[in-house]
Amino acid sequence: MTSAPAPTLALSHRFAQDLPELALPWQARETPDPRLLVLDERLAADLGLDPDWLRTPDGVGLLTGTRLPDGATPVAQAYSGHQFGGWSPRLGDGRALLLGELQDTSGRLRDLHLKGSGRTPFSRGGDGLAAVGPMLREHVVSQAMHALGIPTTRSLAVVATGDVVHRETVLPGAVLARVASSHLRVGSFQYAAATGDTDLLRRLADHAIARHHPAAADAGHPHLALLESVIAAQAALVAQWMLVGFVHGVMNTDNTTISGETIDYGPCAFVDAFDPAAVFSSIDTDGRYAFGQQPVVLEWNLARFAETLLPLLADEQEAAVAVAVDALGRFRPLYSAAWTAGMRAKLGLTDDVAGETVSDLSGDLLRLMADHHVDHTSFFRRLGRAARGDAEPARSLVLDLAGFDAWADRWRALGPDAVVMDRTNPAYVPRNHLVEEALDAATDGDLDPLERLLEAVTTPFDERPGLERFLEPAPASFGAYRTFCGT
Ligand code: AMP
Ligand code: MG
Repeated sequence: MTSAPAPTLALSHRFAQDLPELALPWQARETPDPRLLVLDERLAADLGLDPDWLRTPDGVGLLTGTRLPDGATPVAQAYSGHQFGGWSPRLGDGRALLLGELQDTSGRLRDLHLKGSGRTPFSRGGDGLAAVGPMLREHVVSQAMHALGIPTTRSLAVVATGDVVHRETVLPGAVLARVASSHLRVGSFQYAAATGDTDLLRRLADHAIARHHPAAADAGHPHLALLESVIAAQAALVAQWMLVGFVHGVMNTDNTTISGETIDYGPCAFVDAFDPAAVFSSIDTDGRYAFGQQPVVLEWNLARFAETLLPLLADEQEAAVAVAVDALGRFRPLYSAAWTAGMRAKLGLTDDVAGETVSDLSGDLLRLMADHHVDHTSFFRRLGRAARGDAEPARSLVLDLAGFDAWADRWRALGPDAVVMDRTNPAYVPRNHLVEEALDAATDGDLDPLERLLEAVTTPFDERPGLERFLEPAPASFGAYRTFCGT
């Protein structure tokens, strides 16, 4: 067999060089029988990687961290975090490695990172491994999020390792190759701050500015500008989650990025019936990370981020706190503005309609939807047809017909634009029952359902014949949905 020539792989190690205190050199575990399950060929091309080469043994070796170019120094990243509000001083990559950074075809630096690559000094009690199902789940949901226009880490590939993983049952093992604009999180700053080493904290902040918020470097106070930029990016992100019905499920501070990308698709889910109290994660017994709580929790996480920056914000602690509080005060207006702008588009309303009218109309609609358990994705999609004069498909989803009619009269009087609505309200999201069905089949060796689901959710706004079952809510027999962390 002739394999394609190995490309010249220019992995850089900016993170490890700038921040050696946060980067522990480590090697990926060998994979007994690696088999490429999915590959995002477009993303590969964006990274300057030849998809055909990635399918060769050397390429799969890169995707599992087992055959790396000379000089590559993978690292496990150190970070801390508040998990469900409780402080963990030392988390870090317990089953992940940063292989290095690649420059993509538009010149941006992107992390190439593995999940499920074996134990590291941060593994604590864990086995360092990941199973096929959860890694494919990250693949499909992050593909969908990207297609929806929501900032996210990307899944380049999932490789079945040939290892077995012991969970409640014995499962096939996998490694996910993930691409992100970086893996810096609030927890990275918490780790640096907890060392008491202000020089490390400053280097981390400057590294974050250079990679994510370069305009902050030119501000009068770059570290305050970094704080403001992260607040703005995360406010915009969580607004997008709320607008599409996404529940992250484990918004610990180590899962809140500095880039403003969604990270870690463990116990995540999309709501079917609109319900601010929706919780899917088996361990979130208090509903800390319930759907409607997400903006509040994010604000809390951002306050933890601001705390870490205090030594850089002002010489005196009191002055630094005042600066941080002032910056955090921008979160709510930024979130509201992003959410209202998003609702304006979901309802197809033009800029002539006052913000207050959009807010009132949205609030009334969401109350109606919550009271009557209306399917979120179907309802907004069908509302586009209501804007074209065919109200029945949306109306039939609401038990309170008089309530719907009264609301719809007010809305239609504002002249909604159906074209904008169809570009904004997805037809296809990775509904929980479809994800489970696809992952179960893939775990048993059948990738067809996964491929069909990917086909639907990677072109989410373009309704196509033949994909009708991807439009439908879960059947009643699916029951209450439960998700799990760290599997
Ligand atoms: P997560 O909630 O998935 O973001 O993970 C939280 C922490 O648990 C991180 O430090 C992970 O590296 C670690 N972790 C999760 N699963 C495992 C595992 N199977 N083995 C070792 N560490 C793990
Ligand atoms: Mg995590």
